[in-house]
Amino acid sequence: MALRKVLLEGDPTLRKKSRPVTEYNERLCQLVEDMKETMRAYNGAGLAAPQVGVLRRVFIMNLGGEDEEDTVAVNPRIIEQEGLVVGEEGCLSLPGLVGDVERPERIILEAEDLEGNTWQRELTGLGAVCVCHETDHLDGILYRDKALEPLVSVDIVNEDPEEKANEDSEGKN
Ligand SMILES: [Zn+2]
Repeated sequence: MALRKVLLEGDPTLRKKSRPVTEYNERLCQLVEDMKETMRAYNGAGLAAPQVGVLRRVFIMNLGGEDEEDTVAVNPRIIEQEGLVVGEEGCLSLPGLVGDVERPERIILEAEDLEGNTWQRELTGLGAVCVCHETDHLDGILYRDKALEPLVSVDIVNEDPEEKANEDSEGKN
Protein backbone atom coordinates (compact mmCIF):
# COMPACT_ATOMS: atom_id res chain seq x y z
CA MET A 1 0.00 0.00 0.00
CA ALA A 2 1.08 3.53 -0.54
CA LEU A 3 -0.13 6.87 0.61
CA ARG A 4 -1.25 9.02 -2.30
CA LYS A 5 -1.17 12.78 -2.50
CA VAL A 6 -4.59 14.43 -2.20
CA LEU A 7 -5.04 17.10 -4.85
CA LEU A 8 -6.25 20.48 -3.66
CA GLU A 9 -8.84 22.78 -5.18
CA GLY A 10 -7.21 24.66 -8.04
CA ASP A 11 -5.72 21.50 -9.52
CA PRO A 12 -7.37 21.10 -12.95
CA THR A 13 -7.69 17.30 -12.50
CA LEU A 14 -10.40 17.86 -9.87
CA ARG A 15 -12.53 19.59 -12.52
CA LYS A 16 -12.38 16.78 -15.08
CA LYS A 17 -14.96 14.09 -15.65
CA SER A 18 -13.78 10.63 -14.68
CA ARG A 19 -14.07 7.67 -17.04
CA PRO A 20 -15.90 4.45 -16.14
CA VAL A 21 -13.89 1.52 -14.82
CA THR A 22 -13.88 -1.24 -17.43
CA GLU A 23 -11.18 -3.56 -16.09
CA TYR A 24 -11.48 -5.23 -12.72
CA ASN A 25 -7.85 -6.04 -12.19
CA GLU A 26 -5.01 -5.88 -9.71
CA ARG A 27 -4.40 -2.24 -10.61
CA LEU A 28 -7.92 -1.31 -9.52
CA CYS A 29 -7.48 -3.19 -6.23
CA GLN A 30 -4.17 -1.42 -5.65
CA LEU A 31 -5.78 1.96 -6.30
CA VAL A 32 -8.55 1.23 -3.79
CA GLU A 33 -6.07 -0.01 -1.15
CA ASP A 34 -4.03 3.17 -1.58
CA MET A 35 -7.19 5.28 -1.37
CA LYS A 36 -8.18 3.56 1.90
CA GLU A 37 -4.77 4.23 3.39
CA THR A 38 -4.89 7.83 2.22
CA MET A 39 -8.43 8.40 3.53
CA ARG A 40 -7.41 7.11 6.94
CA ALA A 41 -4.22 9.16 7.03
CA TYR A 42 -6.26 12.30 6.40
CA ASN A 43 -9.14 11.27 8.72
CA GLY A 44 -11.58 11.54 5.82
CA ALA A 45 -15.05 10.01 5.63
CA GLY A 46 -14.82 9.56 1.88
CA LEU A 47 -12.39 9.84 -1.00
CA ALA A 48 -12.90 9.80 -4.76
CA ALA A 49 -10.26 8.59 -7.22
CA PRO A 50 -9.82 11.98 -8.95
CA GLN A 51 -8.77 13.41 -5.58
CA VAL A 52 -5.66 11.27 -5.82
CA GLY A 53 -5.21 12.14 -9.50
CA VAL A 54 -6.87 9.10 -11.05
CA LEU A 55 -9.73 9.97 -13.41
CA ARG A 56 -11.70 6.77 -12.93
CA ARG A 57 -15.19 6.38 -11.49
CA VAL A 58 -14.37 4.95 -8.04
CA PHE A 59 -14.97 6.25 -4.56
CA ILE A 60 -14.60 4.86 -1.07
CA MET A 61 -16.29 5.94 2.12
CA ASN A 62 -16.23 5.05 5.76
CA LEU A 63 -18.65 6.73 8.11
CA GLY A 64 -18.03 4.55 11.16
CA GLY A 65 -14.24 4.59 11.32
CA GLU A 66 -13.82 0.79 11.48
CA ASP A 67 -11.84 -0.75 8.62
CA GLU A 68 -14.50 -3.36 7.89
CA GLU A 69 -17.05 -0.62 7.28
CA ASP A 70 -15.32 0.67 4.15
CA THR A 71 -17.67 1.01 1.23
CA VAL A 72 -16.04 0.69 -2.19
CA ALA A 73 -18.18 1.93 -5.06
CA VAL A 74 -17.01 1.34 -8.63
CA ASN A 75 -18.95 3.13 -11.39
CA PRO A 76 -21.47 4.48 -8.82
CA ARG A 77 -24.83 5.83 -9.90
CA ILE A 78 -27.66 7.19 -7.81
CA ILE A 79 -30.70 5.44 -9.21
CA GLU A 80 -33.30 6.83 -6.81
CA GLN A 81 -33.46 9.87 -4.55
CA GLU A 82 -36.04 11.62 -2.44
CA GLY A 83 -36.36 14.43 0.06
CA LEU A 84 -33.96 17.28 0.67
CA VAL A 85 -31.85 18.10 3.69
CA VAL A 86 -29.27 20.78 4.35
CA GLY A 87 -26.08 19.68 6.07
CA GLU A 88 -22.55 20.87 6.63
CA GLU A 89 -19.86 19.38 4.41
CA GLY A 90 -16.12 19.51 4.19
CA CYS A 91 -13.64 18.04 1.72
CA LEU A 92 -10.04 16.83 1.87
CA SER A 93 -9.39 18.81 -1.32
CA LEU A 94 -10.61 22.03 0.34
CA PRO A 95 -8.88 21.74 3.72
CA GLY A 96 -9.96 23.99 6.57
CA LEU A 97 -13.31 24.89 5.02
CA VAL A 98 -16.93 23.88 5.56
CA GLY A 99 -20.24 24.87 4.05
CA ASP A 100 -23.91 23.95 3.94
CA VAL A 101 -25.17 21.97 0.98
CA GLU A 102 -28.65 20.72 0.10
CA ARG A 103 -28.71 16.99 -0.64
CA PRO A 104 -31.33 14.25 -0.97
CA GLU A 105 -32.52 12.71 2.27
CA ARG A 106 -32.57 9.17 0.94
CA ILE A 107 -30.89 7.60 -2.05
CA ILE A 108 -30.39 4.22 -3.62
CA LEU A 109 -26.84 3.72 -4.78
CA GLU A 110 -26.01 1.17 -7.40
CA ALA A 111 -22.38 0.33 -8.10
CA GLU A 112 -19.96 -2.49 -8.82
CA ASP A 113 -17.60 -4.13 -6.39
CA LEU A 114 -13.93 -4.87 -7.13
CA GLU A 115 -14.89 -8.03 -9.05
CA GLY A 116 -17.43 -6.23 -11.20
CA ASN A 117 -20.53 -7.55 -9.40
CA THR A 118 -23.38 -5.04 -9.23
CA TRP A 119 -24.82 -4.18 -5.81
CA GLN A 120 -27.40 -1.76 -4.48
CA ARG A 121 -27.71 -0.03 -1.13
CA GLU A 122 -30.18 2.37 0.41
CA LEU A 123 -28.58 5.25 2.30
CA THR A 124 -29.97 8.06 4.40
CA GLY A 125 -28.48 10.92 6.40
CA LEU A 126 -24.70 11.19 6.31
CA GLY A 127 -24.39 8.16 4.06
CA ALA A 128 -26.57 9.76 1.40
CA VAL A 129 -24.68 13.05 1.69
CA CYS A 130 -21.33 11.33 1.36
CA VAL A 131 -22.37 9.33 -1.73
CA CYS A 132 -23.64 12.50 -3.45
CA HIS A 133 -20.48 14.42 -2.53
CA GLU A 134 -18.16 11.67 -3.79
CA THR A 135 -20.18 11.01 -6.95
CA ASP A 136 -19.98 14.74 -7.73
CA HIS A 137 -16.17 14.48 -7.62
CA LEU A 138 -16.37 11.95 -10.46
CA ASP A 139 -18.07 14.63 -12.58
CA GLY A 140 -15.60 17.38 -11.65
CA ILE A 141 -18.01 19.03 -9.22
CA LEU A 142 -16.81 20.33 -5.86
CA TYR A 143 -19.20 21.03 -2.99
CA ARG A 144 -18.27 24.70 -3.17
CA ASP A 145 -20.27 24.82 -6.42
CA LYS A 146 -23.42 23.74 -4.58
CA ALA A 147 -22.94 25.42 -1.20
CA LEU A 148 -25.82 27.63 -0.13
CA GLU A 149 -23.46 30.29 1.27
CA PRO A 150 -19.77 31.04 0.71
CA LEU A 151 -17.60 28.45 2.49
CA VAL A 152 -16.27 29.41 5.89
CA SER A 153 -13.05 28.58 7.68
CA VAL A 154 -13.27 25.75 10.24
CA ASP A 155 -11.56 28.03 12.78
CA ILE A 156 -14.64 30.22 12.80
CA VAL A 157 -17.02 27.27 13.13
CA ASN A 158 -15.11 25.43 15.87
CA GLU A 159 -15.26 28.03 18.56
CA ASP A 160 -13.99 27.50 22.06
CA PRO A 161 -15.78 24.32 23.29
CA GLU A 162 -16.79 25.94 26.59
CA GLU A 163 -18.15 28.97 24.88
CA LYS A 164 -20.01 26.68 22.50
CA ALA A 165 -21.52 24.71 25.40
CA ASN A 166 -22.75 27.94 26.97
CA GLU A 167 -24.25 29.04 23.71
CA ASP A 168 -25.99 25.70 23.32
CA SER A 169 -27.54 25.83 26.77
CA GLU A 170 -28.57 29.43 26.21
CA GLY A 171 -30.17 28.37 22.99
CA LYS A 172 -32.29 25.80 24.75
CA ASN A 173 -33.54 28.17 27.45
ZN1 LIG B 1 -14.66 15.93 -1.41
